[in-house]
Amino acid sequence: MTSREIREAFLAFFNDKGHQIVPSAPVVIKNDPTLMFTNAGMNQFKDIFLGEAQALYPRVADTQRCLRVSGKHNDLEEVGIDTYHHTLFEMLGNWSFGDYFKKEAITWSWELLTEVYKLDKDRLYVTIFEGDPADGLPKDEEAYNFWSAIIAEDRILLGNKKDNFWEMGDIGPCGPCSEIHVDCRPDAERQTVDGRTLVNADHPQVIEIWNLVFMQFNRQKDGSLKPLPAKHVDTGMGFERLVRVIQGKASNYDTDVFRPIINYIAERAGVSYGANEQTDIAMRVMADHIRAISFTIADGQLPSNNKAGYVIRRILRRAVRYAYTFLHFKEPFLHELVPLLAKQFEGVFDELSAQQEFVQKVVLEEEQSFLRTLVTGVQRFENYIGNGDAKMIDGGFAFELYDTYGFPIDLTGLLAREKGWTVDMQGFQQALEAQKSRSRAATAVDTGDWVVLREEDQVDFVGYDQLTCHTEILKYRKISTKGVDQYQLVLAKTPFYAEGGGQMGDTGVLIVADTGEQLAITDTKKEHGLIVHFTPHLPTDLSATLVAKVDVAKRRETEGNHSATHLLHAALKQVLGTHVNQKGSLVNAEYLRFDFSHFAKVSEEELLQIERIVNAKIRENIPLKEERDVPFQQAVDAGVTALFGEKYGDRVRVITFDDQFSKELCGGTHVRATGQIGFFKIVAESAVAAGVRRIEAITGSRAEQFIYEQIDIVSKFKELLNNPKDFVKALSKVVDENSHLKKEIERTVAERALSLKQDLAAKVVPVNGVNFLAEKIDVPNADAVKTLAYALKGYVDNLFLVLGTVIGDKPGLTVVISDNLVSDRGWNAGVIVRELAREIQGGGGGQPFYATAGGKDASGLDRALAKAKSYVDDHTKVIKDDE
Ligand code: ATP
Ligand code: MG
Repeated sequence: MTSREIREAFLAFFNDKGHQIVPSAPVVIKNDPTLMFTNAGMNQFKDIFLGEAQALYPRVADTQRCLRVSGKHNDLEEVGIDTYHHTLFEMLGNWSFGDYFKKEAITWSWELLTEVYKLDKDRLYVTIFEGDPADGLPKDEEAYNFWSAIIAEDRILLGNKKDNFWEMGDIGPCGPCSEIHVDCRPDAERQTVDGRTLVNADHPQVIEIWNLVFMQFNRQKDGSLKPLPAKHVDTGMGFERLVRVIQGKASNYDTDVFRPIINYIAERAGVSYGANEQTDIAMRVMADHIRAISFTIADGQLPSNNKAGYVIRRILRRAVRYAYTFLHFKEPFLHELVPLLAKQFEGVFDELSAQQEFVQKVVLEEEQSFLRTLVTGVQRFENYIGNGDAKMIDGGFAFELYDTYGFPIDLTGLLAREKGWTVDMQGFQQALEAQKSRSRAATAVDTGDWVVLREEDQVDFVGYDQLTCHTEILKYRKISTKGVDQYQLVLAKTPFYAEGGGQMGDTGVLIVADTGEQLAITDTKKEHGLIVHFTPHLPTDLSATLVAKVDVAKRRETEGNHSATHLLHAALKQVLGTHVNQKGSLVNAEYLRFDFSHFAKVSEEELLQIERIVNAKIRENIPLKEERDVPFQQAVDAGVTALFGEKYGDRVRVITFDDQFSKELCGGTHVRATGQIGFFKIVAESAVAAGVRRIEAITGSRAEQFIYEQIDIVSKFKELLNNPKDFVKALSKVVDENSHLKKEIERTVAERALSLKQDLAAKVVPVNGVNFLAEKIDVPNADAVKTLAYALKGYVDNLFLVLGTVIGDKPGLTVVISDNLVSDRGWNAGVIVRELAREIQGGGGGQPFYATAGGKDASGLDRALAKAKSYVDDHTKVIKDDE
């Protein structure tokens, strides 16, 4: 079977068993503070397991793109070194939400593996949870019994809490699990060593392929377990591992999932795969990493310097580093792999082919900039080695290479070994730990358990229609960040919009109806399905009726900016083309920011055209058309564009301003009609990353204020020019005059310098064969003295020249001596100027033929010049005597 057929067979099998097949969620997670990337198929169903959302279908199956490169699941260091852990992989999964449980999950998994995929039963082992007395958990007898009905008992192994008890996090749903492992070793080996002993022992040929999780408990903050009211099944099978087992390969990289890419790399590198362990690892790293990089970018996460963006940047750098070091790719190469991948995933994850050019561009740009860093890093490394003889690379330096230049530590070790050096690994680990705990301390949040005041799962958001309502607290909890306490409240009914879709959360106030006590709401955010309100205090009476009031002025400004963002998006598509895709947006009361894919700078004319379109739409005063409950497919069919990297529900909200102009899927709040926006003004256009531009704009009263400020500047200019009729003409006249005058001044100065030179030359007197002059001159600045001094040196032979100046109120001396006098007589202008400068209480220096000094006492200048004369007299006499 090909990998495509294997995937299709999985989905068809579960579809036959009554499962709804759903699309993969994006791999980048936006609204969960605890998780950056999707790391398991169940992530998108988390709210259902937590009881915060209703399941749309009781049975669901899919293939989910997962990334395990950070946090609790981090396989990055293994990837490429081993042959069965990937950064990005597909997790095939089937779910039951309060529907079937262990029996069906177990029987079906066996049926699929042995009857559809025809795996050899002799090579399969399963594990079940052995129990944990400390947690008061019994052995999973149920699972044991269902398994023993289908397979021999000696193939059922007991597993401990680490391997066979699954938990979502420190708190939340959890339960025992049952894993399926495959022994892929050759028969001869299987006869000598019993496969049972190799399960869960990190043997590269005895691997876990499927995990069946039975969620039946909820872990509380105090560590205790509460049974879940509805029990669920959550399974995950590694697609690439399954393909390898079915295709009978010894490595995931030998399957048709990876081979085309490996072959391409091998050909371009001119090294065959299998030739050598090191080049093989490099090829595996590249073939693997490009998948993680491409899909995260396609799902809307650009490489950057923090959080999810940084994780991606590091993965990309790891791949480049391997390519550079072991396969000698000195030029960007990884981006060439993107089209191959896009083709491979057509019909599976179309996000990639739809944005191929964009993804390629981003990867290329990252490669280019990292290769530049890499060259500098290698240079730093060489210098370090060159300057030391310790033969041991300091941990701090290894960390610097790792942190600043993206050198994985194993590669620093390798470079070191090549030179006969070692790395202080302990020091490196210390530096790494220190950094980790710094960032942990910076972001540590201590979250308390929810205190439930009233059981109710339906929270009513009324904020599309109302900005005030009566409500009460359903539950609350305390959170502390860096020692500051705050509370989070969930209300029965709320007009507060929770941050989402780029729009900031509402702020406002809660007023206790009876007493008038006020609580400030400082922010509103979504967490899973909940709307969470942030407040510094709790009300005295927790069960009181409250009046919730949104800060209206702020909300209105925000709405103006949000609706303007939709108009801007549509105008951009009209002016620049349909390739424009939203890549991010931020809307608050102050301004709007919109990032979009486009490959060139947006020109002044284009910006003007865009502003004109948006302002025309504002003046048309188009009423808002808001459809709250449209089936997703119907919206897409009607031509509404869904954004890449967004996870939409089955039913969506569609915001339209003019059916022919702007239709978007959007959960945000908007103006009633576009006229409310008032006026739209772009204030900045810039680049955010390769192929991504950013427009910042303002609307309403802020735009008005901006225009008045501009007008004010112009009026001030006009006033300065005595209110001319034609302002631009008058100003350009001033500018012209100014440049004319500047030239005039330059010419005058040059002329004066020339005449000064001639005047001075005429004053030169011969003193015993030396042409001598010591003069006070009047020039505007030090440059002029220098120019004049050099000019005279070139004009008069055998010259000994001393110029005295007073610039500002500071006296200065310049000594110039012809080159022949320097060499024949050993005179040194530097020494002489220091001697003379004593008269003006100063010091200086320079070269033997030219030196300057500054001083404090201008009254000493005449004495200094006289001293110069004596110097020549004395020193020429000596020479005469010698002759
Ligand atoms: P392992 O112990 O092999 O790392 P796991 O216990 O981390 O696996 P689960 O969290 O149970 O795995 O994930 C379910 C399935 O996903 C696994 O049975 C495996 O087939 C697959 N899987 C897990 N991690 C990876 C990975 N990094 N690359 C490819 N497949 C993976
Ligand atoms: Mg793992």
